[in-house]
Parts: sequence; C-alpha cells; structure tokens
Amino acid sequence: MSDSGDGVIRRVGMFGGAFDPPHGAHRSLAEVAIEQLGLDVLHVLPTGQAWHKARPLTDASHRVAMCQLAFGDLPRARIDDREIHRQGPSYTADTLAELRREYPLAELYLVLGADQLLAFRSWVRWQDVMSLARLAVAARARSIGAQALDQPAEEADLSGVDLPFVPLTMPLNPVSATAVRARLAAVGPDAAALDLLVPAPVASYISQNHLYQTPT
Ligand code: ATP
Repeated sequence: MSDSGDGVIRRVGMFGGAFDPPHGAHRSLAEVAIEQLGLDVLHVLPTGQAWHKARPLTDASHRVAMCQLAFGDLPRARIDDREIHRQGPSYTADTLAELRREYPLAELYLVLGADQLLAFRSWVRWQDVMSLARLAVAARARSIGAQALDQPAEEADLSGVDLPFVPLTMPLNPVSATAVRARLAAVGPDAAALDLLVPAPVASYISQNHLYQTPT
C-alpha cells in the first residue's frame, strides 16, 4: 500500500466511471488528482450497471482489463472492482461509505468531471456523498457526445454550482468515451485512429479484442 512515507493513509480518492473505454482525459484526471490532492491511494472503480447510463456497458471484464492498462502503472492508483460484483445498481454513496469504514481516519475525495458535478443533485443520496467526501472537479467541455471531437471545445460553466468543491487544474480535454466509440464504429478496429485519444495499451487491447465495432 502506498502512503505518504510514514505508513499512514491520510488522503484517499475515489474515481468512478463506466470507463467504456478509459481514455486520455481519465488518465490525466487520475494523475492530476493524485498529485494535486496529495492522495496516498486513488481507488479507480469501473462501475457495474451504472444507474444513470441507459446504454448496456461493455462486459465488465474488458473494462477492468482496460483500466489495468490505463492506470496500472500509476503507483498510487488501485483498480477496485467491487462495484462490478455488487448486486443491483451501483451507488457512489454506498462505495464511499465502505471506503470510510476501510479508512476511518483518512480524508476522502471524490474525483469527477464538471459534467458530473452539474448533475450531482440528481445522484442517489447526494447529501450522503457530500458528507462522506470532498468533491474534486476537473473542467470539462460543454459538448461531450459523439461529436465532441469535431468542434472547438467550450468549457462547461460551473459558476451556478452552489456546492463546495476543490477545482482540479487540468487542461480542457474534449475527449469522451462516447466520441471514442463513435470514431471506432466509423473507422473500424484501427489502433492508429485512437492514438491521441486513449493510452496506447488500451488502443491495442481494443483492437485485439475487436471492441466497439458497432455504434452505441
Ligand atoms: P461516456 O461518453 O460513455 O458517457 P465519459 O467519457 O464521460 O463516458 P465516464 O467513464 O462516464 O467517461 O467518466 C468517468 C469520470 O471521468 C466522470 O467523472 C467524468 O466526468 C470524468 N471525465 C470523463 N471524460 C472527461 C474529460 N474529458 N475531462 C474531464 N473529466 C472527464
């Protein structure tokens, strides 16, 4: 287990997502969060069947494998597949409550992008989330759909958000998993088409496993 050098775990991050697939902005967000928040450990949690995503997700074993490839070399990141094994929908409040029990003395941070902050009050038991963890938020483009890479990125406006959060300093990155899937469905399993969008080992994995060949 990583720690600040004295064996004490003081700051723990939770970074959840569908990671379908994990892409370059996910990777940057994990790096920035670890560095800027001084995290001793960042739990990266591929979700089971996310309650807020209508689309069926790619098989969990693939998403976990791609997370290992995307984040596994970050010494303080830990791929945590507990939500995959949970029965029923995954709620962040439940995962944070578990992390609180596992790290009773640590400060907990929930790492997320601005799109999720803007939707935060629709989350199940969002007040519990707020009482368990501080929110650490990266800027995100306003448009995050399939066309996200085709137009100049404009930053989502957080000025109306009246919840406390720690801003993470990360350059705006317009990539979204939706745009990656759309590009793959359009060009086929050509790893070169993904070069700047997903970490190279993830691009190879997608190509080898023929993932995302049809539009979703
Ligand atoms: P999809 O396009 O399938 O909805 P996504 O790209 O939004 O996926 P998720 O796995 O849903 O990826 O996101 C996990 C977390 O990473 C969320 O908190 C999300 O806000 C954040 N995130 C994803 N992409 C970016 C980005 N380009 N910049 C900042 N944060 C991001």
